[in-house]
Amino acid sequence: MVKFCPRCGAAMFPLKKKESGEEYYVLKCPRCGYEEKASKKDLEAYGLKYVVDSSKRTITAKATEARASSLSPDEREMLQEYYEVLLESMKEEEGEEEESD
Ligand SMILES: [Zn+2]
Repeated sequence: MVKFCPRCGAAMFPLKKKESGEEYYVLKCPRCGYEEKASKKDLEAYGLKYVVDSSKRTITAKATEARASSLSPDEREMLQEYYEVLLESMKEEEGEEEESD
């Protein structure tokens, strides 16, 4: 199930964050900016696969087909837009870290 903001009731979306080299995800409200830490289960509810890469110690969420039947058409549409933003930001990051081992 998609989570809703406890403050204003808008649907929240996963957002990637980075803090002291560690990447993690939060659920963020696009309306009022409220955010809370996203659990693996939360991300799965959004059709994101939560992958921990132990070699890099990063967390990668991979967008999968938004076919969760629990989502309303409106939610699906919003998620679709979100995925596009997410994939764009993931592409940018790939170019960012070009250090070789
Ligand atoms: Zn809110």
